[in-house]
Amino acid sequence: MVKGVIDQVVKRNPGEPEFHQAVKEVLESVAPVLEKHPEYKEAKILDRLVEPERQIIFRVPWQDDKGEFRVNRGFRIEFNSAIGPYKGGLRFHPSVYIGIIKFLGFEQIFKNSLTTLPMGGGKGGSDFDPKGKSDSEVMRFCQSFMAELCKYIGPDTDVPAGDIGVGGREIGYMYGMYKKIRNEFTGVLTGKGLDWGGSLVRTEATGYGLIYFLLEMLKDLGKSIKGATVVSSGSGNVSIYAAQKCQELGAKVVAMSDSNGYIYDKDGIDLKAVKQLKEVERKRLKEYLKHKPNAKYEDGCNNIWSIKCDIALPNATQNEIDEKSAAKLVENGVWAVAEGANMPSTPEAIQFFLKNKVCFGPAKAANAGGVATSGLEMTQNSQRLSWTFEEVDAYLNRIMKSIYKQSKEAAEEYGQPGNLVVGANIAGFSKVARSMLAQGLV
Ligand code: NDP
Repeated sequence: MVKGVIDQVVKRNPGEPEFHQAVKEVLESVAPVLEKHPEYKEAKILDRLVEPERQIIFRVPWQDDKGEFRVNRGFRIEFNSAIGPYKGGLRFHPSVYIGIIKFLGFEQIFKNSLTTLPMGGGKGGSDFDPKGKSDSEVMRFCQSFMAELCKYIGPDTDVPAGDIGVGGREIGYMYGMYKKIRNEFTGVLTGKGLDWGGSLVRTEATGYGLIYFLLEMLKDLGKSIKGATVVSSGSGNVSIYAAQKCQELGAKVVAMSDSNGYIYDKDGIDLKAVKQLKEVERKRLKEYLKHKPNAKYEDGCNNIWSIKCDIALPNATQNEIDEKSAAKLVENGVWAVAEGANMPSTPEAIQFFLKNKVCFGPAKAANAGGVATSGLEMTQNSQRLSWTFEEVDAYLNRIMKSIYKQSKEAAEEYGQPGNLVVGANIAGFSKVARSMLAQGLV
C-alpha cells in the first residue's frame, strides 16, 4: 500500500528527488498507523495527502538597477488545509524549483500539526537570488512577487512567512504591497516588523526552539549542554539564534558556515562579529578572520562535520550531512544531532545516527519553533494585541516540550522507543489523518 503510493509519487512528479525523499521518509514511518487504522486506507488518506490541494506557479517580472527587465519564477504550494489555513515560508534562492517547494510544503503539514496550533501546510518561493542585489532591486522583485501572490493568500486562507533568503526586509516589502493592493491591514504574513504587527521572539524562535527541544533530548540522555562543544552550520537566522541560546546556556560553539565555506574558532565563535557580518553588512563569513585573526577558514562546507563536537546542529540547508559526514561525527564522539534546517541529513545519514545510538532530533519536530511562533503572531494579530518577550518565549518553550513528548510517546506506542524520526512523523500524521477523515472526501 505505502510502496504503491510512493511509486505513484515518483511517477507523477518526475525529476523531483527532494520531494520523493520527503514522501518516502514520512510514508514508511506511518505504515504501522495504517495497519492499526484500516479506515485510513479505505479513505485513501495517503493518496490524498501526497497530492497538493493547489499548486500555483507564476511569472515574476521586475527591473534591475540598470533598467534591464528580468524574469523569475514564483511558486506557492497550498498543500493541506485539514487542520487550519495553509502556513509555511517563502524561500528565495537560485536552487528553488517546484520539487524543493513541494518537499518543504509536504514536511510543513506534519511540522505544523506537531505545534498543537491550527495551521495547515504550505510553502512558496522563487528562484530569485537576493544576494548581490541592491535594496531597490529586492523591493521591486518583492512587489512584483506579491502583486500575483496576493490573489491567493489571506489571514484565514494562507499565511506565508520567511525562509532562506527571505527575512525582515523582504517580508516588509511584500507586506507593503499586499496592503496597498488589498487595502487591508491583516496578519497575512508572519515575521513582520515589531512596529507593524510582528511578534517578539519570532526572529529568535527557530534557533531558540531548536535548543529547547535539544534540552529535552539531553534530559533523557542524562547529559548537560553546559560545557558541551557545538558545531552549528549556516550563519543565517536559525544558526545564529541557536548558537546564541547555546552560548547563553554555557556551551561552546566552535564552528559555523555559509554557502562558501566554514569558520573554526577553538576559543568559541564571537557571535557579535557574525551578526555584524551577516545581519548588518551582508558579507561573506570569510571576513570573520578580520575580527578574529586566530580563527580558521576553509572553503567548502562538507568538512565542517569533521570538527570534533558533542552536539551537531545542521542549520544551513537540505542534505548537508551525508553518510560520510555522519560517520565522521560518530567517530569523533558526537552524542546528539538536532536538525535546525529542513531535511539536512540524508536518509543514509539518519540511519547511521540511529544505528550508532546518537540521540537524533528530526527537523520537523526540532525546528518547529519558528512556525509555532508564527502561529502565535497570527493569534496576536487576531486579538489585536502584542504579548511580551517573556510570554512568547514561555509559550514557545511549552510548545517545544510538547512536541518532544508527542514524538517520544508516539515512538513508544509503535514499538520504536527513542526513534524520534518515526515518532514525529506518526504524531504529526495522526492528527491530520483524523481531520481529513472527519471532513469527508474533499
Ligand atoms: P538564512 O537565509 O537566514 O540562512 C541560511 C544559511 O545557510 C546561510 O548561512 C547560507 O549561506 C547557508 N546556506 C544556504 N544554502 C546553502 C547551501 N546550498 N550550502 C551551504 N550553505 C547554505 O536561512 P534560515 O536560517 O532561515 O534557514 C536555514 C534552514 O532552516 C533552511 O533549511 C530553512 O528551511 C530552515 N528553517 C528556517 C526557519 C526560520 O524560521 N527561518 C524555520 C524552520 C526551518 P549564505 O549566507 O552563503 O547564503
